[in-house]
Amino acid sequence: MNENVLKRGELLAQTVIKGLASRNMSGYYAADKEEALRIALSLIPEGSTVTMGGAMSAHEIGLVKALKEGNYQFIDRDEYADKRAAMLLAYDADVFLASANAMTKDGVLVNIDGNANRVSAIAQGPKKVVFIVGMNKVCGDVDGAMKRAREVAAPTNAQRFGLSTPCTKTGACLNCKSPDTICCQILITRFSKHKDRIHVILVNDALGF
Ligand code: SF4
Repeated sequence: MNENVLKRGELLAQTVIKGLASRNMSGYYAADKEEALRIALSLIPEGSTVTMGGAMSAHEIGLVKALKEGNYQFIDRDEYADKRAAMLLAYDADVFLASANAMTKDGVLVNIDGNANRVSAIAQGPKKVVFIVGMNKVCGDVDGAMKRAREVAAPTNAQRFGLSTPCTKTGACLNCKSPDTICCQILITRFSKHKDRIHVILVNDALGF
């Protein structure tokens, strides 16, 4: 990545980290994926029960692989025939891994969900939530973050799952009420009631979508 782009990402990350601190959440700067993996593992004690909601960024930094191969109790919902049972286990996990669909420069997180297992676990349940967020997800304000979540992240996710929605045919969000919509619940996380629950690792790279 261009040196000036990297410098901007590092500076902006420090602004986001200050914003997170003002909202009772912890932020960490990672210069690259390798550093992000080290920070994530330092936040997850061995023996922890860990689960996740479709967080591509956690895969991209090698975290899911490291947890599966390491001394952790990783709950992989893909391995459960009973998806509801797997989702319910998440609420009592030690650690929930997530990415954000978008966030603001002053530390507000925005997430959209279809089944709502991800947004509900972010809001309540798991003892700790660890977000892996590429600097490509940082927007100026909540309006910008909502726009990114609705117009970039959600249509891309719908395409990933091969859903029958207007956005998979046009690439644009048409604010649908299709039975296949993945835009059922929108969570704006602006403050954490519980200190040391929400941790956000900001990676100076483009992760997820
Ligand atoms: S078209 Fe429907 S599913 Fe696609 S992003 Fe918009 S609201 Fe979500």
